[in-house]
Amino acid sequence: MKLRTSFRQKLLLLALLPLALAQLVTIYAVMRTVERDVNDKALDTLHIGATVVDEYLEGRSEQLRTSVQVLAADFGLKEAVATSDADTIRSVLRNHGLRVDADIALLLDLEGQVIASTDPDLHAQRDLVQRKPMDEEQREAVQSTEIIGDVVYQVFAVPLRAPTPIAWVILGFRLDSTIVDTIAALTGLDVALVANAEDVRLLAGTSTVRDAIRLPGDRLGRPDSTDDVYVINGVDTNYLARSTQFIDYANDAAVEVVLLRSITDAMAPYVDARRLLILFGVLLLTAVAIAGVWLSGSVASPISILTDAARRLKAGDYDVYVRVPSTDEIGELASSFNAMTTAIAEREDRISHQALHDPLTDLPNYLNLVQRLEQQIGEARAAGQNIFVLSIRLGRIGSISSTLGHGASDELIALAARLLRINIDPGEILGQAGSDEFVLVVPGGATDDALECAEKLRGILAAGVTLGRVNILLQSTFGIAMYPEHGVDPAEILRKASIARSEAESRGEDIGVYQRGREDYHVRQLRLVNDLRSALGRQEVAVWYQPKIKLPDGTACGAEALVRWQHPEYGWLSPDEFVPASEEAGTIVHLTRYVLRNAIAQCRRWDDEGYSLQVSINISARDLCDDYLPYYILQLLKEQELPPERLTLEVTENSVMQQVGRATTVLECLRDVGLRISMDDFGTGQSSLAQLRRIPLHELKIDKSFVMSLPDDVQNGEIVLTTLKLAHSLGLNIVAEGVENEHALRFLSGAGCQQAQGYFISKPIPPSGFVKWLRSYRAESLDERRSGDRPFRRNA
Ligand code: C2E
Ligand code: CA
Ligand code: CA
Repeated sequence: MKLRTSFRQKLLLLALLPLALAQLVTIYAVMRTVERDVNDKALDTLHIGATVVDEYLEGRSEQLRTSVQVLAADFGLKEAVATSDADTIRSVLRNHGLRVDADIALLLDLEGQVIASTDPDLHAQRDLVQRKPMDEEQREAVQSTEIIGDVVYQVFAVPLRAPTPIAWVILGFRLDSTIVDTIAALTGLDVALVANAEDVRLLAGTSTVRDAIRLPGDRLGRPDSTDDVYVINGVDTNYLARSTQFIDYANDAAVEVVLLRSITDAMAPYVDARRLLILFGVLLLTAVAIAGVWLSGSVASPISILTDAARRLKAGDYDVYVRVPSTDEIGELASSFNAMTTAIAEREDRISHQALHDPLTDLPNYLNLVQRLEQQIGEARAAGQNIFVLSIRLGRIGSISSTLGHGASDELIALAARLLRINIDPGEILGQAGSDEFVLVVPGGATDDALECAEKLRGILAAGVTLGRVNILLQSTFGIAMYPEHGVDPAEILRKASIARSEAESRGEDIGVYQRGREDYHVRQLRLVNDLRSALGRQEVAVWYQPKIKLPDGTACGAEALVRWQHPEYGWLSPDEFVPASEEAGTIVHLTRYVLRNAIAQCRRWDDEGYSLQVSINISARDLCDDYLPYYILQLLKEQELPPERLTLEVTENSVMQQVGRATTVLECLRDVGLRISMDDFGTGQSSLAQLRRIPLHELKIDKSFVMSLPDDVQNGEIVLTTLKLAHSLGLNIVAEGVENEHALRFLSGAGCQQAQGYFISKPIPPSGFVKWLRSYRAESLDERRSGDRPFRRNA
């Protein structure tokens, strides 16, 4: 919102500001020019006026002087004066004065005494006489202005000659609004008559001046400046003024004629023009403002729509479509924005789909499964129903990918997913919890239904899929967990189904139902896997040795290294507890190296004590992927100065079969450097004779499950005998493990078995006790058990 207003405001400002400025500048410039022009014109008028006034006053003075002189030359008057005929004098003065419009006419004797006067009360007459000491030498008429009271007179004095002066004739002309009006009419200006003696007084003025300048008179006075034109500020009006002395003599009572030109009046026509200009400017600005508002709106509103849309987009609302109908750049921007929104929405959809689906099969992934199961649980709780969850794992995927490649195993998984998908009912959820683990969630079934469902799907998978042109049968294992029986939390139920499945796998079964308590077992397994590495560092893991003897003579010929772990919390642990888990986790490689280091060092010590023994070490599938294993072993042997033949590596059929190709290569390498290879737990796996041939081997170790029940178990006896034959035919050495009694030992020895290992001979022994055992064994300990008969020498 803030952005929108500011953007619009900026646009508006951009339109209005320069215009307003231009307007102001124009009006100012015009008015300045006009003012100057008006001023100049007023000055001109004043100057011209002043000239006119000067000429007028001069002309008038001349005329008045002439008329005074005419009077002074009047014969009748002279005669009357000579005869001192007062009546005649008075009548001549009155008549003549009337004729020339004089206000006062006087006749003075040479002493200045009034002979005759037209002024009845003699008031002005007395003043005039006092102020006018006559100059007897004066031959010409003398002119002056005289202020008497409030009245100003223009006074002319002329000597009356007969032929020498005998008296003075004096005429006084009152200066009042008449002369002011005359000058005003002549000049077209306002006029003021001002007494400019000690104080300035307005004597007379045109009506405008009287009204406008209600000022103390001194304002009308000439300022000190030398300018002959000056400004007078009136009440409403300002004037330009110019003063002229009424009579251009020195030491005259200063009466001045002030010409005034009202600038306010002169400006009046232009004031209208200015008003018009301003009005026009305001109108223009208003028009531009309206246009600006509209224009900025038409630009800013699509932009604000876009801004709003972008804000919504940022907040994750992809359902925005910007409708800007214009085809200009903004319209283009809007359509690009829409395209972008669509693209982002699509990508967002894709990303969130990818986040919740398996990339290979497009089935809901674990996260998605948890969410959906949660929803199902909510519904089942409301309906009081059960849910069962199947964990499904395809077998042999590892070996398929190692033989046919990753592409093939991926394709196989995708085919299996498709097969499962078309065989489930609506409302059931099929998902994928791991690369080869599927999960099926079925609402509303009991354990029996779950078992039935698992059996059905197992059958479908077992029928196989066609990959290339080959039909591949899919082995699968199922785990079942129930809601609410096994848990109410979706992740917990999924985990329990997984546990049930891996338990079934390890038992070699196809379907398993979750059993209480198994989770604790799995937690413990995890804990062990986690602790193993540091346990090796802390020497908590010990290597014990189980003796092996040669048949038929019974001499101790070697020992198998077997690990024992004294866990700080769980106490002594059998390898069966932690080896399979650490094989799965991959930490087994550290254990193997640890055992190798210990066992080879032990072998050296036995050697030093005079016992040249073979030492056997268990190697797991992971170790067979370790390309550096042969170098590591050689290095250890070299350090202990032992020949490679002293070390036997026991591998199981299963571990080799997991990655036949790779394992064979590593084993060949190990054999080539002189190590002995033994096939452990022989008879429990499914490998064929043909496969066996390809693996580089020195010995077979018959699994204890066949040996322990000897010799009573006829079937196992047969198996042992067949195995012995097979081994001989392949030129392999044969070892029997799990020899628990003397009869078994005899049986094996009799059948040509070359070595034996078992509790009957000895249980695994810690290294500290091994030499002691060797010594006591040599002391014919077996014989002692048998009191006399020496089984090992029977065939000797
Ligand atoms: P295995 O390699 O088959 O080891 C022989 C197992 O049989 C040993 O169990 C041994 O104590 C037991 N045994 C020996 N003679 C008899 C007998 O007469 N009767 C009976 N009932 N059992 C007998 P242990 O030590 O518990 O080892 C179990 C398995 O743990 C081993 O089976 C082997 O697979 C694995 N293992 C032990 N140590 C290591 C090791 O250092 N590395 C690896 N990778 N696996 C190991
Ligand atoms: Ca073994
Ligand atoms: Ca074994």
